[in-house]
Amino acid sequence: TDALLDVRDARCVIPTPKGDIVALGGVDLPLAGGEVLGLVGESGSGKSTLAKFVIGAPPPGARTSGRTTVKGVDLAEQSPERARELRGRHIGTVFQDPMMALNPVVPIGRQISEAPRFLLGMSARERRDLAVELLTLVGIPEPERRLKHYPHQFSGGMRQRVTIAMALACSPDILIADEATTALDVTVQRQILDLLADLVEQRSLAMVLVSHDLSVIAGRTHTTAVMYAGRIVEYGPTARVFAAPRHPYTRALLEAIPRLDADERSRMVAIPRAPPDLAALDQGCSFAPRCALATDACRDAFPEPRGGDTHWARCIHTGEQAE
Ligand code: ATP
Ligand code: MG
Repeated sequence: TDALLDVRDARCVIPTPKGDIVALGGVDLPLAGGEVLGLVGESGSGKSTLAKFVIGAPPPGARTSGRTTVKGVDLAEQSPERARELRGRHIGTVFQDPMMALNPVVPIGRQISEAPRFLLGMSARERRDLAVELLTLVGIPEPERRLKHYPHQFSGGMRQRVTIAMALACSPDILIADEATTALDVTVQRQILDLLADLVEQRSLAMVLVSHDLSVIAGRTHTTAVMYAGRIVEYGPTARVFAAPRHPYTRALLEAIPRLDADERSRMVAIPRAPPDLAALDQGCSFAPRCALATDACRDAFPEPRGGDTHWARCIHTGEQAE
């Protein structure tokens, strides 16, 4: 394919004392150059596991299979070192907690220039210039002075800007932001989302924006992928998915939100019945136990995507409304 990033049949099984958890049950995810894809779904649906799969860092002990192609190169066909290098150069990541990404005892200038040193062989001078340039780009005042500062000397929002600078250090084509603003207060949250949007625009990046906040997904992405129990159950242009959702789960999510008010921190309100037990999934549709439309046929096999390439849902009742 001509996708910039192409994930095929990603599977991830995590052994736990209570049995194996199927955190990813076969996920396909194409991402085109410049595309902003929103990944949404309730807690435990596998969003972060998918992000970790893409960057080659699944949970310890997990068994994985599937292919990841970056710029036409199948990472499974590369040596582990080469695959790591390609991921490092082409994919930048920003996670929820900047303190996890940052080393508390290393000045931020050095942390920003670590990847370019190893992956691009930049000289000390080049790295310093790059760090100043990136700090300026992400909106950190007095970048020269700030290079020597440690993570604890920054506010939460500024720290997240530092990790964004780090993510951009090797000029990636793809940015993966996993709940990058969830821990921040609303005003700072919007500033960081604006910054990410600007960077995507300026640097022609593609981005996977992982969020449980539907108003963020609705307002800031081109494409939406809805995850449920380790699978993408609906995929399509964001405007279509929000205006005419095809999967009963997506409809339940949208109905659970009284209104999408950008000025309020909107939460993903719980939908009826318990979330799925990922250690006890049978072969049928994993949403069937919570679905008002479910019939016997839903319990026979996990539905294939229906509705066409641009907007599809894994539901045999696509289009039907619950009474
Ligand atoms: P959230 O919105 O809370 O971030 P998520 O969609 O990112 O949720 P994941 O973190 O990907 O969900 O988790 C998917 C499933 O895998 C969950 O059932 C989770 O408990 C399980 N899981 C993830 N990481 C581990 C791990 N290291 N050990 C055991 N189970 C794990
Ligand atoms: Mg997560």
